Amino acid sequence: MLIDGKEISKLAYKDIVNEIKIITKKIKRPPTLNIILIGENPSSLTYVNNKLKKCEEIGIKGNLIKKPNNIGQKDVLSIISELNADKRADGIILQLPIPNHLNERILIESINPLKDVDGLTATNIGLLSIGNPRFIPATAYGIMEILKKEKISSEGKNIVVIGRSNIVGKPMVALLSGKSENATVTVCHSKTINLEQHTVNADIIIVAVGKPNVLDGSMVKKGVIVIDVGINRIENKENSKGFSIVGDVEFNSISKKASLITPVPGGVGPMTIAMLMKNVCEAAKLNI
Ligand code: NDP
Repeated sequence: MLIDGKEISKLAYKDIVNEIKIITKKIKRPPTLNIILIGENPSSLTYVNNKLKKCEEIGIKGNLIKKPNNIGQKDVLSIISELNADKRADGIILQLPIPNHLNERILIESINPLKDVDGLTATNIGLLSIGNPRFIPATAYGIMEILKKEKISSEGKNIVVIGRSNIVGKPMVALLSGKSENATVTVCHSKTINLEQHTVNADIIIVAVGKPNVLDGSMVKKGVIVIDVGINRIENKENSKGFSIVGDVEFNSISKKASLITPVPGGVGPMTIAMLMKNVCEAAKLNI
């Protein structure tokens, strides 16, 4: 059975839109999301445009600060510092990846944690890991909402998370292994030897790698629940664009064994943007 992320996100947006109306009345302006985009990475441009489109649709003011690839560290720091000081700037995002000459960690740490709606500052990662989250990174937040809406309990389950990035894998582990979810969590990554040995016993598998076919039907047990986070472009001459978007799992063989699976596209993606918007609301509420 497919998990329809689009449908779940529609329900989430109903609440978010209501909340935006209430916040807008109280703070006498719409909540704002400020996105710093550096360079011309085509995937980043698409992601940012999707976020801005959604902002406009639901009543959040999106503000794009687009800078050339060769911008220096000091200039990015001063943009962030201005946004930190601006009472009308609720959420701040530094769209990743950024060019190699910039220091990502220093720049992220310069964002005021109260405006860090991606949840990537050390303060917010720390709050999440002690079980008292302020801003949960949107993809992990979206996956938790999907599990909740599908009435999938994590308690006592064997959950394998493949991937350990700060934006997906690590927050997933923090959330699922915490005292509110009580799962037994195994983290796999590029140095894991014999991935199948871990995945074959899993009740739930969350795959966030960024490579197609990391997991196939022979590596999972019957009835497994699979959350596929990956977004990969593969060449497809039959498609007018010349490519197709696929996830990290080999869908055909896995879907024959899984009891539930998120498709790509239409699974985790729509929930990621919804939960980002929810975080922007939380940031704006700090002004009330
Ligand atoms: P990263 O590249 O930051 O992390 C990838 C992780 O996968 C790393 O921990 C890496 O291990 C691990 N890995 C790489 N190869 C293997 C392998 N063969 N077997 C097991 N583990 C492996 O990626 P992100 O977490 O940022 O993103 C992952 C995917 O999810 C991407 O396709 C991205 O586009 C997508 N994504 C989708 C979102 C959505 O809304 N649907 C949102 C965010 C991301 P190591 O740590 O050892 O390098």
